Amino acid sequence: MADDELQTCVRCSYVADKEDKYCIRCGAPLKNRCTKKKTPLHKGCSKVNKPDAKFCADCGTETLFNEWGLL
Ligand SMILES: [Zn+2]
Ligand SMILES: [Zn+2]
Repeated sequence: MADDELQTCVRCSYVADKEDKYCIRCGAPLKNRCTKKKTPLHKGCSKVNKPDAKFCADCGTETLFNEWGLL
């Protein structure tokens, strides 16, 4: 299996499948998604940011990793 088909959990370093959204070992999110929620005024933001991004590159909202205190 090639490296780009795997991803590493930022919290426990477990190597997960690329399509997994959460770590099966510690429950931490594996995709650093933007946390901007869908509201009546905004369609929300589901951008997946770089693993070390604290804020979304598209809208500046906190990322999921930042919210979880993983960075
Ligand atoms: Zn983990
Ligand atoms: Zn965003």
